[in-house]
Amino acid sequence: MTQRTALDTLLRAAKAWHSALPDATRFCPWPENPSWQPRQPHTLPASDLLCRAPGTPNAKSTALLEALQSAAPFVDWRQSYTVEEVGRHFLDHYGWFELAGPEGHFVTHEARITVGYWGPGLFYPRHQHKPAELYTIVSGRATFQSDGAPDALLGPGQTRYHAPNQPHAMTTHEDPVLTVVFWRGDELAERPRLTQ
Ligand code: ZN
Repeated sequence: MTQRTALDTLLRAAKAWHSALPDATRFCPWPENPSWQPRQPHTLPASDLLCRAPGTPNAKSTALLEALQSAAPFVDWRQSYTVEEVGRHFLDHYGWFELAGPEGHFVTHEARITVGYWGPGLFYPRHQHKPAELYTIVSGRATFQSDGAPDALLGPGQTRYHAPNQPHAMTTHEDPVLTVVFWRGDELAERPRLTQ
């Protein structure tokens, strides 16, 4: 399999996932004609963890999970935080990549679609960012904690919305969590920052 084949398959699976989730279609339309952009793969421990221990999917997320696992070795894995901010253990069990967006494997300025993985037993500290985001859970589960909303333990097919600059955190327990995240609004490429 090539990078292009794996990512074309993943983009199709993500589009089907988006169109089947009413929360996602309400949040943002699927971008029109995102254009392929070759990017150098960059590996992180999260890539291997996602292949070996993705957490449990449901019937509707299995196809997307398989496409994500096939694409995992070919993508440009990234992290938003430093060891000083979140610690080494967190960095060794977390990563994300941009499937589509201003800096994605497929370039579009209409939306941003990222994939994030967190291993078991992690606390993702309170953080915020200007674009609004919608988490969709593909496999595993996590407790989502946001200012002004009750905590929620969410699993496959469930979603969590964060308004612009609404501080939020996340905790994984015995399971990891794998998410596809949709972003909309201004400054899509802006990095999140930890809430002071
Ligand atoms: Zn966020």
